[in-house]
Amino acid sequence: MISVRGYEAERVAILGLGRSGLSAARALRAGGAELLVWDDNAAARDTAAAEGFAVADLTRPEAWQGIAALIVSPGIAHLYPAPHRVVRLAWEAGVPVDNDIGLFFRSLATGEWDHHDSPPRVIAVTGSNGKSTTAALIHHILRDAGRAVQLAGNIGRGVLDIDPPGDGGIVVLELSSYQTELARALTPDIAVFTNFSPDHLDRHGGLGGYFAAKRRLFAEGGPERAIIGVDEVEGQYLANQMAEGGGDGRLIRVSADRKLAGPGWMVFARKGFLAEWRKGRQVAAIDLRAVAGLPGAHNHQNACAAYAAARTLGLAPKLIEQAFHSFEGLPHRSQLVAEAGGVRFVNDSKATNADSAARALAAFPRIRWICGGLEKEGGLGPVTAQLGHVAKAYVIGREAAAFALHLADIPHEVCETMERAVARAAEEATDGDTVLLAPATASFDQYDNFEKRGEDFIAQVKKALARAGGRG
Ligand code: ADP
Repeated sequence: MISVRGYEAERVAILGLGRSGLSAARALRAGGAELLVWDDNAAARDTAAAEGFAVADLTRPEAWQGIAALIVSPGIAHLYPAPHRVVRLAWEAGVPVDNDIGLFFRSLATGEWDHHDSPPRVIAVTGSNGKSTTAALIHHILRDAGRAVQLAGNIGRGVLDIDPPGDGGIVVLELSSYQTELARALTPDIAVFTNFSPDHLDRHGGLGGYFAAKRRLFAEGGPERAIIGVDEVEGQYLANQMAEGGGDGRLIRVSADRKLAGPGWMVFARKGFLAEWRKGRQVAAIDLRAVAGLPGAHNHQNACAAYAAARTLGLAPKLIEQAFHSFEGLPHRSQLVAEAGGVRFVNDSKATNADSAARALAAFPRIRWICGGLEKEGGLGPVTAQLGHVAKAYVIGREAAAFALHLADIPHEVCETMERAVARAAEEATDGDTVLLAPATASFDQYDNFEKRGEDFIAQVKKALARAGGRG
């Protein structure tokens, strides 16, 4: 655990007592702070009380006397669509509002670091899609190379739950826009921006607010190296702001589908090959087509970003290439769950927005597409361009019939349940097809989360294959 410094004998309030709230409470307590905790959910309050934390009703203005800071969980709105009442009271009382990420950055470096040969480094990954895959891949490459590395943030452990990194230690963080927007300290050594597309617009008051939240990771701390996906104008703008000129070696530009040119440092994927160029010369190339754990152009973008991060730490291209081949991918992201009779079954339940679903559709040639769920703002936009890969869509979700209206003349069937969708797709699929779950929606109409939706898909695939096996 990282104990939080700077609040010794001070009163700190915590709003939200899920994983990150409780871990912040423990880390603050270890650093000598006095905690007052609150959650709207009574069961969560009971759990915290059982750990010895003082529950205080922070929704009452009187509770705000003598509080030094409020720590808020990422799931709770602090600004849009409207601040939670407790956050609003903190703003009104002039109490600084922060989160576990801000506490982490203010507490990580200690006096001991002066005695290290190489001080610990933090690599932080943000962007709209591919954060988890990129962060997990960086972690995998560094671990493979024998580095002492820990993975935390939105993926893996809570940031304050990690062990304090020792000499040469590396911490890889996945950071969401909710986390970067509120953190009062954001000082990674290496910052990665994967890509940009609309998501979570309600929480950021629109697209500009969403981009501004992500941009803070680069603007606040001034990372030593910035790795930026430049396939959208937002990335181009950010790259432009981070560099003194085209040849600035602090910046690595990344593209998933275009040859980048110029005097600087760049890593890009084209036609299945990764290439690294520096000062106008090609330094290395890797064939990504043979890397089973990273299928599709979207994963080639993640591979480029992770490669760039590993290169900034001095790893050789050959070592990184080897590590790509032993990367198994993450569950629920282009995860191959079964293959039978020439038909592949792929679980991309994490495709919760239109852009990630479009990327998943682009990765396979003939698709039986299981889609639908709770629609997000922005509709099907980028998916439309990929519908040529779809042999037929099988629509799930409570609003399946309404969702199907977006599909116009694409062959489709309103199935509503996962069970029916998988059964029908499996029945109709022929050699060379991919049955792909890439819903383009949130899962909350039918499931607790995207993981549960993906697990249901896997269970239904097993059932369908067992039935088919029984018949055959
Ligand atoms: P995040 O942590 O940003 O949500 P994940 O790695 O969990 O990213 O992937 C989320 C979804 O986006 C998955 O459906 C995945 O297949 C897809 N995806 C992964 N990488 C990319 C990328 N670079 N661009 C677009 N979509 C991607």
